[in-house]
Amino acid sequence: MGLARAVLLKGSESRWLADQLSRRRFIRRATTRFMPGESMEDALGAARSLGESGITSILTLLGENVDDAEATEGVTGEYLTLLGRAADSGLDADISVKPTHLGLDLGFDVAARNLRALAAGAAGRGRTVVVDMESTPYCDPTLDLYQVLRAEYANVGICLQSYLYRSRADLEDLLTLAPIIRLVKGAYKEPADLAYPRKADVDASFLRLSQTLLEAARDGTAGVAFGTHDTDMIAEINRRAAEMGCPRESYEFQMLYGIQRELQMRLAASGYRMRVLISYGAYWFPWYMRRLAERPANVGFVLRNMLRG
Ligand SMILES: Cc1cc2nc3c(=O)[nH]c(=O)nc-3n(C[C@H](O)[C@H](O)[C@H](O)COP(=O)(O)OP(=O)(O)OC[C@H]3O[C@@H](n4cnc5c(N)ncnc54)[C@H](O)[C@@H]3O)c2cc1C
Repeated sequence: MGLARAVLLKGSESRWLADQLSRRRFIRRATTRFMPGESMEDALGAARSLGESGITSILTLLGENVDDAEATEGVTGEYLTLLGRAADSGLDADISVKPTHLGLDLGFDVAARNLRALAAGAAGRGRTVVVDMESTPYCDPTLDLYQVLRAEYANVGICLQSYLYRSRADLEDLLTLAPIIRLVKGAYKEPADLAYPRKADVDASFLRLSQTLLEAARDGTAGVAFGTHDTDMIAEINRRAAEMGCPRESYEFQMLYGIQRELQMRLAASGYRMRVLISYGAYWFPWYMRRLAERPANVGFVLRNMLRG
């Protein structure tokens, strides 16, 4: 792992840094590159304008590791309101949720109760709830949560991370459930006995897992999304899909708001399904640090904002 990435990921875990930096105006201004704003209305507005270019959305309220049961109910309530508002606006918008935001630290049953309420609310509106994958201590309970929820609802998805050695086995298990899967590379600081330390290996793992997912997409045995901004990876996935007779409409690309905008437009205009994850909310610090870690050159962008005063 590069030094800059390691430092930024370590920083993302610091509550002290979060308190200090979240108040700085230049940091807040720099976040607008990756999020349209802190309010639900900002997120819905961004979804509306992406929709005009044929790009659909996934909305997420920023937050993680909530350790107060009442607060997790508040989070669930906010998501239900969001689903309602998005439906009223006629938006093609799913939601993406972190298990620890729904109370996984308080116990499996708390998170399961909240997730069940979201799955029911989303099902009533024909929408999907995707369960994010957080750091490795949460991997097993998140997969268990998915298994329990998937037995009750078809409109739930889960994220898998190609940097983890275990993801091949997890994928094989999940495929028995007719799942919805989003494949990503992985955004957390993980030890070398659990995750590939070298980027080239993470990329190779992503391609191997993609191949299996494309077969599932072609055969209609899974809902498949590739969450990546990697131009070469996307070209290779599309090449393989065409070669194996997997239609464009049978899988989806997902990217983060503000990253690779031109590529997003190009894919949508070429008939690929393109969905953009739009984050909003006040609790953006750890999430924002992980975005910087993905591309330490982004720190230059923050510094330029600082110099602008
Ligand atoms: C929809 C979606 C959902 C996700 N959900 C999860 C999740 O649940 N759990 C999890 O661990 N991770 C999640 N991630 C993050 C993911 O794991 C990666 O950290 C992130 O997508 C960067 O990897 P990449 O595949 O884009 O490729 P990389 O190889 O990291 O980057 C490829 C290229 O993309 C561009 N790029 C990538 N990141 C940035 C950035 N931050 N700023 C500017 N340019 C950039 C650059 O041009 C770079 O050269 C999600 C990502 C997406 C898109």
